[in-house]
Amino acid sequence: MKAMLLRGPNTPFELVDLPDPAAGPGEAVARVITCGSGLTIQHVKAGRRPVQFPRVIGHEITAEIVEVGAGVSHLRVGDPVTAYYYLNCGHCRWCLAHREPLCLEARGNVGLECDGGYAEYIKLPAHIFIKLPETLDWRAHPAEIGVITDALATPYKVLRRAHVAPGETVAVIGAGGGVGIHQVMMAAWANARVIAVDVAADKLSACRKAGAEATIDPRGIDLAAALRDMTGGHGVDVVVDYVCTRATLEAGVNALGRRGRLVVLGGAAQPFQVPAREMLLKELDVLGSRYVTRAEILETFAIVARGEVWPLVTDIRPLAEAEAVHARVERGEVTGRAALRVA
Ligand SMILES: [Zn+2]
Repeated sequence: MKAMLLRGPNTPFELVDLPDPAAGPGEAVARVITCGSGLTIQHVKAGRRPVQFPRVIGHEITAEIVEVGAGVSHLRVGDPVTAYYYLNCGHCRWCLAHREPLCLEARGNVGLECDGGYAEYIKLPAHIFIKLPETLDWRAHPAEIGVITDALATPYKVLRRAHVAPGETVAVIGAGGGVGIHQVMMAAWANARVIAVDVAADKLSACRKAGAEATIDPRGIDLAAALRDMTGGHGVDVVVDYVCTRATLEAGVNALGRRGRLVVLGGAAQPFQVPAREMLLKELDVLGSRYVTRAEILETFAIVARGEVWPLVTDIRPLAEAEAVHARVERGEVTGRAALRVA
C-alpha cells in the first residue's frame, strides 16, 4: 500500500510502498478515505512528541472496513468507520465505567504508538474502530466527518466536564487553533456567550463567524482584568485553556467569577498557581479534560447529523501533499482543520 512515512523526528514525509496490513485475531483493517491533519500529529513530525520511528501518523479518519480478523463480530466488510484516538483496553474499571481516556492499560494513541491514517489501509484492534451512523453523509463529506472524533468531540466533552449552562460566559484561550475554533462553535451551540482569546486577527475573525460574541488579543494587556471588564466585573463562568502556559492559566483563574471553572487541556501544560483564598471565596473549580469518551463521540455524531454544528475543514488535499499541509499547520496558517484525501 501507499503510505506517507516519517522516518524520524523533524524529517520530511516519504511516500513509500508498505506491505498491506492483514487483520489478526481481534483486529480489523480499513481502507482510508481521508485523514485529518492537526497540530497533535504535527507535534510528532516536528519531534515535540516522541514516538518510535518509522511511523505512519494520523488518527482523524473516515474509512471503510475491508477485512475483519477472527473473533470480531461487531464489524463487517463495507462498514464505514472512524477511529477512537486512544488505544484503550476496553476491559479495565475505567473502560467499563465509560471513561475510556482514563484507561489503566492504554497502549498509547492511534498514529503515535501504532501506524495511523496517512496510508491506504489502517489496521487497528477492532474495538478501536467506531462505526459511522447512517445519518452522517460520510460519502459526500469524508474529511469533515473524519475530524469529529477529535476536533469536535473534544470541545463537546469540555462542555459536559465544566457543566456549561445556557447564558453562561465561556472564554476560550487559543480560540483560533484547530480545536479552539470548534470549542467556540460548540460553546455557542450550547447557548453560552463566547469570548475568543487569540493573537491572530484573521483567526479572531473566523472565531466571530464560528459564534464568538467578542474577541480579544491578549498581547500587552492584563487578560484577566480585560475578561472581568467584559463581564461587567463579575468574572467569566468558564475559561477553557488550549494554550496552557503559566501566563494563560493564571490569567484564566484570575478571570473567573463566583463558581467559575477553569478547564485545562493540552498545550504547553506548564505548572501554575491558583490562589487558594480566591478558590475558596468564589468556590472555583480547576478541571482537567482529557480527550472524550466513546459515548461523547456518538453524541457529537448526532449533533452533526442533525445539522446543528458542522466541522470546519478549510484545506483538503491529496496525501501526496502532506508535507505542504503540515508546513501550514506548523506555521498556524490553517483555520479549523486541514485534511488529506487518501482514496
Ligand atoms: Zn481500559
